[in-house]
Formats: sequence, structure tokens, C-alpha cells
Amino acid sequence: MAAVKLSKDIARVFVNSFDTVLFDCDGVLWAGSKVLYRAVETVNYLKDSGKQIFYVTNNSTKTRAQYLEKLMKLGFNADEKEIATSGYLVASYLESINFQQTVYLIGSKGFAEELRNHGIKHTQIGPDTMATDMPTYVNGQIELESEIGAVVIGFDEHLSYPKILKAANYLANPNCLFLASNADETFPMEIPLVVPGTGVMVKAVETASQRTAKVFGKPSVAMFEAISKQCKINPQRTLMIGDRCNTDISFGKNCQLTTLLVLSGVTSLKHLEQYKHDEQHILMPDFYTDVLGDILDLLEQ
Ligand code: PLP
Ligand code: CA
Repeated sequence: MAAVKLSKDIARVFVNSFDTVLFDCDGVLWAGSKVLYRAVETVNYLKDSGKQIFYVTNNSTKTRAQYLEKLMKLGFNADEKEIATSGYLVASYLESINFQQTVYLIGSKGFAEELRNHGIKHTQIGPDTMATDMPTYVNGQIELESEIGAVVIGFDEHLSYPKILKAANYLANPNCLFLASNADETFPMEIPLVVPGTGVMVKAVETASQRTAKVFGKPSVAMFEAISKQCKINPQRTLMIGDRCNTDISFGKNCQLTTLLVLSGVTSLKHLEQYKHDEQHILMPDFYTDVLGDILDLLEQ
């Protein structure tokens, strides 16, 4: 079990074997604010040659509309229908179950806006709230808003002890839903800096509440189910391209897609060697290449 390196000899057959291509965003199309080598040309070429394209990101901090703005500004020939963010999935899910109560949100402004776009009421506490300010004890009871029907977690750069405390107390009610956008442990950075991701926030609330969140981002199949609802997708003719094996590649495998790892983000060749050694099949991509733009380079050779 080893991943196959993309080469000139197989590039054309490889590309022709797919009708649909799913692109992870950060680490595949761009790294932070920098577009990666020939990423725009490659995506637009695949779309122009008739493939269905989807952008599938675990980033919950922006709305779909904000993602569309970013993609278009960078030159990607994108449409809002092609974008699935983890925040959008949570909001759509709540809408689909006709959720009428209020969400207690640990998350960004963009996530809050995505909930509003789907008609979901939410409440948040600000970064300045102190543990001593809340929740208040009344006759030995913690006073909490009774209409909260779900705790939702996304990336929140202002995560605080009071936010965790409040979330865990809402979750003491077994009828309160517990949903999370994603569980990425860290974010990739161009510099060697460890940046804690949403997984850290989810784990904090899981630990305090002794409950497990329903996670919507990759590697959950929820992302694939959402895009499959919009149009017919044949998994056997679908390629998932990602930079991170424990989210993107596992997601592709969970959905029975072909997987391509690009080495321009989190997972390196050293990791692949380790997965091979440990027989971690779910993490091993079918194919790999250095960077997305290699696909065009190889087709042109
Ligand atoms: N979550 C946040 C808050 C991020 O900033 C990022 C990357 O920028 C991610 C998740 C991972 O996104 P992707 O799934 O596009 O790699
Ligand atoms: Ca990524």
C-alpha cells in the first residue's frame, strides 16, 4: 500500500477518469494569503473542460458569500453553489431540522452571519465577559437562557473560560444539541508556528460536558452528502484533492472517492512513510504530487 506519484505518463488518463473534482482550499489553492503555483489556472482549466467543481473547506470563520468573494478576487471561476464550508453545513443542518430555538455559539462573526442567513437565532458572549460575571446562581441553580436548544462550536479566536463554562452547562441538558464545524487540531502556517485549531475548542467543551460533538467538517461524510443533494455525483468518478490526510484524505476515503494529496500544506512525504509503516490505510492517499499546478504542467509536457 503506497501512494502513486503523479507523472506525465498517467496524467491524461488520470484527469479523464473524473467528472467531479473536490478541492480543499487552504494548502491546496492558497497558503494563507498567497495563491499556490498555477492553482487558479488548474481549477479553471478543469472546470472549462466540463468537470463539476466543488470547494470544500473546514474553515467556519467566513460565510459562503465571503468565500466566493475571495475566490473570485483571486481569479477562480467560482459560483456560490460550488462552495461548502463547515459553518454552512451546520447552519443548513439546523435549518433542515426546522430548528426553532436559539443556538449558543462559540465562533466567529462569519459563522454567526451564516446562521442568520439560514434563519437560525443565536447568542454569544463577548471576549470581555469574566467568569465571575456569569452564569449567576439563583437558589442554587445556574441561571441560563432556557431557549437554548444547541451549542455550536466553530473557530473562535476569543475562546474563554466563561464561554466553555456556559456551553458545558447548556449541554448538561441532554436535549441540547452539540454540533461542531470541524475538529482540525492546528492550522498550517508558512512559518514553523503551531496554531491551535477548532479541535482544541471542541475538545475543551467535550471534556467539560462529558459529551461528544457531532462534527460536520472533513473527514465527516456530511460535506459530501450536502453537495450530493445539489447535483448527481458518482463517487467512482470523483477526485478529492487535499493537503491534510486526517481530514481531506480520510474524507475522500470515507466517501469512496479517489484521493490526491498535494505536498503544499500539512502532510509531508515523511508522514506518508509513517502511515505506510503503521499500515494506516485511511490516511494513505491514492496519488500524490508536490503542488496542484503540477497537474497542468504534466498535461502540457
Ligand atoms: N479553520 C480555520 C479557522 C482556518 O483558518 C483554516 C485554514 O485557513 C481551516 C479551518 C482549514 O481550512 P481548509 O479545510 O480549507 O484547509
Ligand atoms: Ca487544507
